[in-house]
Amino acid sequence: MRPAAPGGADIANLLDRFERRIAATPPGMCPLAVQAAYLEACATQTCGKCVPCRDGLPQLATLARKVMMCEADDDDFEMMRMLATAIRDTADCAIGYDAAQAVIEGFKTFSEEYERHIADHACIDGIGQTLPCETLCPAHVDIPAYIAHVGAGDYAAAIETIRKDNPFPTACAFVCEHPCEQRCRRQIIDSPINIRGIKKFAVDQIATDKVPVPERLPDSGKKVAVIGAGPSGLTCAYYAALMGHKVTVFEMHDKLGGMMRYGIPSYRLPRERLDEDIRAVLSVGNIEVRTGARIDSASFAMIVEDYDAVYLSIGAHLGKKLGVDGVEAEGVLSAVELLAAVGDGEYPDFSGKKVAVVGGGNVAMDCARTALRAGADEVNIVYRRRKLDMPALDEEIESAMAEGIQLLELQAPARIEVDGDGRCVALVTQPQMIGPEKHGRPAPVPASKPEKRIPADVVLLAIGQDIDSNPFSVLEPDPRSKRFVVNDELRAMGFDNVFVGGDCQMGPSTVIKTIAAGKVAARNIDEYLGYHHKLPFDLIAPEPAQNNKVPTGRVNIAERPARERARDWLAVEEGMSLEEAIQECGRCLRCDHFGCGSLDEGRVQYV
Ligand SMILES: Cc1cc2nc3c(=O)[nH]c(=O)nc-3n(C[C@H](O)[C@H](O)[C@H](O)COP(=O)(O)OP(=O)(O)OC[C@H]3O[C@@H](n4cnc5c(N)ncnc54)[C@H](O)[C@@H]3O)c2cc1C
Ligand code: SF4
Ligand code: SF4
Repeated sequence: MRPAAPGGADIANLLDRFERRIAATPPGMCPLAVQAAYLEACATQTCGKCVPCRDGLPQLATLARKVMMCEADDDDFEMMRMLATAIRDTADCAIGYDAAQAVIEGFKTFSEEYERHIADHACIDGIGQTLPCETLCPAHVDIPAYIAHVGAGDYAAAIETIRKDNPFPTACAFVCEHPCEQRCRRQIIDSPINIRGIKKFAVDQIATDKVPVPERLPDSGKKVAVIGAGPSGLTCAYYAALMGHKVTVFEMHDKLGGMMRYGIPSYRLPRERLDEDIRAVLSVGNIEVRTGARIDSASFAMIVEDYDAVYLSIGAHLGKKLGVDGVEAEGVLSAVELLAAVGDGEYPDFSGKKVAVVGGGNVAMDCARTALRAGADEVNIVYRRRKLDMPALDEEIESAMAEGIQLLELQAPARIEVDGDGRCVALVTQPQMIGPEKHGRPAPVPASKPEKRIPADVVLLAIGQDIDSNPFSVLEPDPRSKRFVVNDELRAMGFDNVFVGGDCQMGPSTVIKTIAAGKVAARNIDEYLGYHHKLPFDLIAPEPAQNNKVPTGRVNIAERPARERARDWLAVEEGMSLEEAIQECGRCLRCDHFGCGSLDEGRVQYV
């Protein structure tokens, strides 16, 4: 009888710990330290059969550690290069090959870090562990502080703390993709804190427009124009007005909010809740709003002339076209067209219809779920890659599936079948198979399988968004991407007083990234106008209790039952209970007080 594999379950436990530790790697680590640790882990995996891997990897790891400690010289580096190349080219299997390949790629990716460690015997400037959650929130919200306020039952203080860096606490509580949770240190013990969920609990206890905004600084006499009232434009307006500048917002729609109203469906972000944030933003005062004001090239020239500074944040509102036959047929719509109409209160009636949605991102999920709520009999999402390659968030895909939407993966649209009256009747697809990687992702290639006919009275195209940059061609947007080109200060090339940010500069992104851009723009506009205003903020976070290290499950936000919610427009998500919120807040390790956050300069002061 053979003995059982030594320590199977125990090793699995240790590996699980290891994985969680890696997941919690804080931003700001020296990449060469990570590389040295990676090589050491690789060396433990060698089977010992082939020499390059068995003997080479430990030697490579020793050299990598020497570089990391700033003790290596040029000869060591040359030796590292030769050794890595030899291992990559001669190791028998992936264990040796991939470890060496990672080092070779690192020579290029981290060339600056290598140079500093070897030439100057110093780690690169600015490298240092930072608070994971706060660093990874694009707006750098003081997360441990607001969690502590919620834990102490002071929800208004939590909202004030969030609003110091992000004037849309409610919108983000509902729809933020919460990058802040990715490296939360709590996952070393169990799983990341539900940071977005705690924010939702706070704004569910007290509406943001019931929490007074800070007082405006004295009037500066300067005039700032904001073009586009999405999250980015309104954020810039909020901070610029707080700094004492007179702001005018120009918006082509009748209502404010941009894609938060004309894109994201109300079952994910109820409009009355979005309005709470918008009312709070406008309550700063000194913000004039002109809706129904579509800015063209002539009015843009006048605005640039009349205002001391301009922030352009027009988003990406045009749907990308699909290059197949039949795309002009009646019943073929772009996702953004459909969702914008819904944002204006024009709900489509798809009763009894079959709907096909082309695309695999969050917008495709929103379209499909909107079609279902508009009465469609059947909704199919057609995606040319696999489910696991879909850019949509896992939770969005799961929610759509739970509501009864069918996903047809590995199907590329070939043409749209049209009847004699010019109406679409089916989407015909060419089945794909997944092939080798292109640009870091496995790419689909046509499979030798017959075409598939998917009956469809409506085809919704959710394959990307374009920027309508024509009215602003004087800013010379990139001819291919149509994005506006800016310098480090978000200033448009060739213009002193025009700043640009949000989706129209980054390409379609997320609410919180565009909020961050709006905040930076306001700060840079303030500097351009000759000021360096500091907005007062004197709230102090409650003292941390002793660190709670008892492994405890993460409280997730519950959703209404799929069968019930699939046919109405009411909010899908429910909130945490008080009991759940207190437990979740209690899991936060207060890394602002314990660990790197407590060190001198451990908390980076962001804009
Ligand atoms: C369907 C959908 C779902 C999404 N879901 C999420 C999500 O769950 N989470 C998330 O974080 N992000 C999500 N996003 C992305 C997010 O909404 C955007 O990244 C964000 O709104 C962009 O902000 P912005 O201010 O740059 O532009 P926008 O929000 O697009 O606002 C731009 C504003 O400018 C106005 N405008 C345009 N041209 C002119 C002009 N010439 N004159 C005057 N006004 C003009 C527009 O009407 C609009 O109000 C989603 C986007 C879509 C389309
Ligand atoms: S805004 Fe988003 S990224 Fe920032 S703290 Fe909130 S959930 Fe996290
Ligand atoms: S434990 Fe708390 S402070 Fe630490 S990273 Fe997570 S949310 Fe931030």
